[in-house]
Amino acid sequence: MTELTLAIIKPDAVGRRLAGRILQRIEDGGFHIRAMRRAHLSRRQAEGFYAVHRERPFFASLTAFMSSGPAIILVLEAEDAIKRWRALMGATDPAKAEPGTLRREFAESIERNATHGSDAPDTAAYEIGYFFAGVELVE
Ligand code: UDP
Ligand code: MG
Repeated sequence: MTELTLAIIKPDAVGRRLAGRILQRIEDGGFHIRAMRRAHLSRRQAEGFYAVHRERPFFASLTAFMSSGPAIILVLEAEDAIKRWRALMGATDPAKAEPGTLRREFAESIERNATHGSDAPDTAAYEIGYFFAGVELVE
């Protein structure tokens, strides 16, 4: 059974023109791109997306960053997509991310860390539904 996950190429990576290289790694990693959109989130949209983190000390800074410029939002499909996409991204803090992971290679800091990935099936379902209608998930 394949699984869906939501991925974002965050504004730091889009702004540094790293999107092409990250998309290549997504394809090389065997993920099937079911949907993709470039979007400049409003502050409110970023706050809604990260609502689970609203009590965290980094929430204000994170949502300012995520609404600071265009991002590329994707729905990826693969066997075990949630876990496999998080493995390709690496740890949240690039200083702790394994060599060869996207965050080790492309992140600037723990906040400006190049990519997002859902962390569980329930959050993946919320995050996919936040950005895409079912009819937008192309085969
Ligand atoms: N973040 C941050 N400071 C922290 C932890 C997280 O700025 O101490 C940011 C970072 O951009 C991260 C996002 O908040 O990707 C969401 O945090 P989470 O713990 O969910 O990490 P992720 O699931 O993205 O690895
Ligand atoms: Mg997370």
